[in-house]
Amino acid sequence: MRILHVAAEVHPLIKTGGLADVVGSLPAAQVALGHEVSVLVPGYPAVMAAGPFEFQYDISNPGEPPARLLRGELAGGVELLVLDQPYYFERPGSPYTDEQGNGWPDNYRRFAHFGYVGARLSQLDDRGGVLHAHDWHAGLAPAYLRAALADRASCFTIHNIAYQGRYSVAEYAEVGLPGEFYGYDGIEFHGDWSFLKAGLVYSDAITTVSPTYAREILTPEFGFGLDGLLNYRRRDLHGILNGVDYTVWDPASDAALEQTYDAKTLKRKAVSKAALQTAVGLDPVPDRLLVGVVSRLTVQKGFDLALEPLEALLADDALQLVLLGSGAGDLEAAFSDLARRFPGRCAVQIGYDELQAHRIFGGADAILVPSRFEPCGLTQMYGLRYGTLPIVRRTGGLADTVTDYNGKNRAAATGFIFGAASATALRRTLGRAIKAYAEPALWRKLAQNGMRQDFGWERAARAYVDLYARIGAE
Ligand code: ADP
Repeated sequence: MRILHVAAEVHPLIKTGGLADVVGSLPAAQVALGHEVSVLVPGYPAVMAAGPFEFQYDISNPGEPPARLLRGELAGGVELLVLDQPYYFERPGSPYTDEQGNGWPDNYRRFAHFGYVGARLSQLDDRGGVLHAHDWHAGLAPAYLRAALADRASCFTIHNIAYQGRYSVAEYAEVGLPGEFYGYDGIEFHGDWSFLKAGLVYSDAITTVSPTYAREILTPEFGFGLDGLLNYRRRDLHGILNGVDYTVWDPASDAALEQTYDAKTLKRKAVSKAALQTAVGLDPVPDRLLVGVVSRLTVQKGFDLALEPLEALLADDALQLVLLGSGAGDLEAAFSDLARRFPGRCAVQIGYDELQAHRIFGGADAILVPSRFEPCGLTQMYGLRYGTLPIVRRTGGLADTVTDYNGKNRAAATGFIFGAASATALRRTLGRAIKAYAEPALWRKLAQNGMRQDFGWERAARAYVDLYARIGAE
């Protein structure tokens, strides 16, 4: 089958979150199943730096800045297609913002055109197949296909429904979609319009990244205003759990670790723990529960709930904390303050650091993910593979991937789960983890249970291909 993924991020070229990991892994898993797979991404500076790429053709469009299509290759035999359009994409900062974190005012034009190019490439491809668009940035691709009455199946994946790409009616006039799409049953959204809604309305199939999140987004609490539409389309909505790329995330071969290890040699993890403690300035004690965090610091991730319990437990010398993250200024400041007040017990690095993320998964004993909502979540799955027990909230993919230790299920449990989004519930669960950690044989068993879980991509790759076939892709 011919598969074209259209996405704003792809690991290892450009990444701000889990979207990049998925687009960096799923296509290769589909190639491994025998399919012909391409990924279209914008030519940001970080992407262009991975070149040189082969020039394909001029893909300029009237009324849009000059554009070229370039071709390269990603790991695993995946074709990389780059939309080289300097006016839109040769900019400093993140894919979506300037260096100060302000969204580019013309993001709707940048990503509308990106979606347009995705739709056009899909139509031009005489091998047929499916267009698979990811998140709001690619949400207009299915709409352009529909507008062109193209005979091409499309699938749209929600990686996070909270980010919708919402714009005003004046801006709609600039993106070249038909006026009749601007209705409540089309692209219009409470007087504005939304890229994400376009993806949901005009794609043949909708997926999201875990079965639990697929159910949650049907409710007003999690649907961010789109639960009505999703209920209307619920027969076309599927939850397919993300996978983990074990060629990148495996403690047995991870070059970032001081000491590699696997489930059988788990004792060696202590070496990576000691190296991490030394590197970040924590007291080199081997027997204090070291809790790691690798996360965006946003309301979604729930770290505001964690501040108070962590402070109390740090004051009691009951655990150590190593945090790597960035996001909301108040949370960055609060955690930095915690590190200042508890030197040797709490280390905080504000920023984005891929290598350090690996070292935290390798060196910490537990990984904390207290999200209010979590479409899938990858870090808890990395934690499982690294024998770093996830402490998570029962939501979305966290609920689908972690088995709570309830005191009786040591043969099956893989981590700790709390229900209520409250500091009290989190404190209690951290207490349960501390207690379990005091029993080394129990802790080792739970870690090994997690390390033996298989969240590889093959299962998800097959599920997507089955779905493409059901919507008529060949
Ligand atoms: P989200 O996509 O909502 O941010 P996920 O758990 O799906 O959450 O994916 C997050 C990805 O980003 C993981 O690969 C995680 O390791 C990585 N990540 C998050 N914050 C950082 C950071 N500060 N430094 C390095 N990697 C990070």
